[in-house]
Amino acid sequence: MTQPIPYFDLPAQLRSLRKDIDAAIARTIDNCSFCLGPDVVRFEKDFAQYCGAGNCVGLNSGTSALHVAMLLAGVGPGDEVITTPYTFVATSWAISYVGARPVYVDVDDATFNLDAARVERAITPRTKAILPVHLYGHPFDLDPFLEICRKHTLPLVEDAAQAHGANYKGRKVGTFGRISCFSFYPGKNLGACGEGGALVTNDAGLAARARALREHGSTQRYYHDEVGFNYRMEGIQGAVLGVKLKHLENWTQKRRTIAHTYHDLLADTPLQLSREAGYAESAWHLYVVRHAQRDELKKHLEANGVGCALHYPLPLHLQKCYAGLGYKAGDFPVAEKAARECLSLPIYPELTDKQVQRVADVIKEFFVAGKRR
Ligand SMILES: *Cc1c(COP(=O)(O)O)cnc(C)c1O
Repeated sequence: MTQPIPYFDLPAQLRSLRKDIDAAIARTIDNCSFCLGPDVVRFEKDFAQYCGAGNCVGLNSGTSALHVAMLLAGVGPGDEVITTPYTFVATSWAISYVGARPVYVDVDDATFNLDAARVERAITPRTKAILPVHLYGHPFDLDPFLEICRKHTLPLVEDAAQAHGANYKGRKVGTFGRISCFSFYPGKNLGACGEGGALVTNDAGLAARARALREHGSTQRYYHDEVGFNYRMEGIQGAVLGVKLKHLENWTQKRRTIAHTYHDLLADTPLQLSREAGYAESAWHLYVVRHAQRDELKKHLEANGVGCALHYPLPLHLQKCYAGLGYKAGDFPVAEKAARECLSLPIYPELTDKQVQRVADVIKEFFVAGKRR
């Protein structure tokens, strides 16, 4: 019996770094710098530099980063924010948290990202911001978005939670929009040993306000200029992220190699593969294939010990929590079809060539054995 191939292998990643992580955590504990502190300050500086950004503000999750970004963008009750229905739900939470309304626009069939032409048609006098996602680590086409935002004087907020290190026209995502939001959830390309997130911006004023908002709305202890939050990054997470950040470029390179190997191995199957657009170097957070018999293929993979996952099985406009927005099935056919057809295959730096080959072999078996096309 061959060894099962997990969908994601966090233990393998931690094994290779365990000594460094243990030492970093021990130092933080010795210093008792648990909430923010020097490790977070150092990580913020390093991550800002990695992104080529002026400022990074460490937070306790990507969801918090998006929430703070909406506040910084001046979004409030009754406002509209144009966003994608095909993403993890936290993208929309941020809009809901500030009392605004998510306005969904259908995605592009090739990249699953928002496309600017459709977004422009959805702008109303109530629109206060545009919040696209670099889904699966593949950058959305930033230039047309920046153009629309300039034309309508709207802030662009990038949800880069899946796209650490992705490039748009040769430059890292995270500095094109007014604000960019990252997640360091353990399953992300750069993951903490717990929760974590960050907001990146070139605007020092916005960064200063974000620092106050994450710490109860204060810049001076026990003086509160506005209603704030406890959204501080933990010292231990800053320390862990500092260790891992040094490996991120190398890891991203490995993800690219695996993606290109999948492209080659699966090219002559009936699967629709995710290709990079000409302007993009994906961070390959996920490797997503499409097929009409997705559910059967998923069962076949699992029965043969190959882990896989769905991102995402139900678009946001059809979620129960958003029934009140008044959308219905059929409103966003591209997103709905993607939700029925997409399947995420294992992709992580520790995945071996042999494992990649086996995933491809098991997929090919499905099509041969079932004579499926
Ligand atoms: C993970 C993720 C988030 C939320 O980040 P957390 O750190 O889990 O709060 C937001 N948006 C997208 C697209 C994500 O993938």
